[in-house]
Amino acid sequence: MAHQSAGTKTVGVCTHCGAFHAVRERQDGSVYAIGSPQGCDCGGTEFTILEE
Ligand SMILES: [Zn+2]
Repeated sequence: MAHQSAGTKTVGVCTHCGAFHAVRERQDGSVYAIGSPQGCDCGGTEFTILEE
């Protein structure tokens, strides 16, 4: 648990089209879609993290 270089896996919503994606949040705050390094299918690359 002391080493989490891969970031936190969570769920994010594309800010462009609203699609849900499994995403990772890096420690620097950047977010990227897991399995979709180019971003959302709509071309969006920004995701809003869903907070419970
Ligand atoms: Zn999208």
